[in-house]
Amino acid sequence: MRALLFDKELNLSRDYPVPSPGKRESLIRVTHAGICNTDLEILKGYMGFHGIPGHEFVGIVEESSESTLIGKRVVGEINVTCGVCSFCRGHMQNHCKDRSVLGILNKNGAFAEYITLPDRNLHILADSVSDEEAVFVEPLAAAFQILKQVEIRPSSNVCVLGDGKLGILAARVISLKNCTPLLVGNHKEKLALLENNDIRTVLRSDFSENEFDVVIECTGSSEGVKTALDAVRPEGTIIVKTTVAGERAVDLNRLVVNEITMTGSRCGPFPEAIKAIEERRVETADLITGTFALDEFLEAFKLASDRGSLKVIFKIQNKPD
Ligand SMILES: [Zn+2]
Ligand SMILES: [Zn+2]
Repeated sequence: MRALLFDKELNLSRDYPVPSPGKRESLIRVTHAGICNTDLEILKGYMGFHGIPGHEFVGIVEESSESTLIGKRVVGEINVTCGVCSFCRGHMQNHCKDRSVLGILNKNGAFAEYITLPDRNLHILADSVSDEEAVFVEPLAAAFQILKQVEIRPSSNVCVLGDGKLGILAARVISLKNCTPLLVGNHKEKLALLENNDIRTVLRSDFSENEFDVVIECTGSSEGVKTALDAVRPEGTIIVKTTVAGERAVDLNRLVVNEITMTGSRCGPFPEAIKAIEERRVETADLITGTFALDEFLEAFKLASDRGSLKVIFKIQNKPD
């Protein structure tokens, strides 16, 4: 099969072996896959990952030990867990001690014609959800995780830092709670996308507000947490979404003195994300900057790295080699 293989650099392999599904696993033919900021970080050395990246996908189940899945269009949760460790048994499966993560940790990902995932990771999609919408399920679920971690009320004063894909999705999810967040970004064109939503926007260069109850850090930059500490009120909460290659320096004295709660936030609930897309409560179509074939990966990654870009998608079609 064709697959994008990362080992120091990214290359297209045309004869990579099709993976074979293990016990209680499915073989999925990938139809679309999205490039995430995490993928760009992986190419810079994040997680020391080697192999096929890609974790935002939609595809068709071709083989499965679960007959009801065969032929179905699915999205999949990216953590492959052992089911027996103390975290798995304690309902913290995403933190399984023995996990692999699709396209991020010890498991080949979705920038390929085929992937395997455990049957229990898969969610069948309604026909009303397009493939282009479905690639947003994974990042939208990550945005919904915020609502599991901090209570957002209509009166909450919430700031989202970063006008990338995740920042915009986070602001849209926050606004579902009848709360009007402020989105802080660097790009006029991206902020303009939110004008029709119940979201306030401001350019980073004009941003001076502080004393927010909740600050959601989605900047994708190692400086983001520092900005969040400037913006949050005493006893407020910072949700940190950014992962970067390398360590970050933060002045923890400010955290202590101002008694701030800082919470890391990663993967989230797929069912909520799928439901929100099905019910058209969160828009995603306006976040697609470009769609490419797998063979055009250099162009695709170049566009995805462009600071003005949002989501870049691969449309993956099987070709006889
Ligand atoms: Zn991602
Ligand atoms: Zn486990």
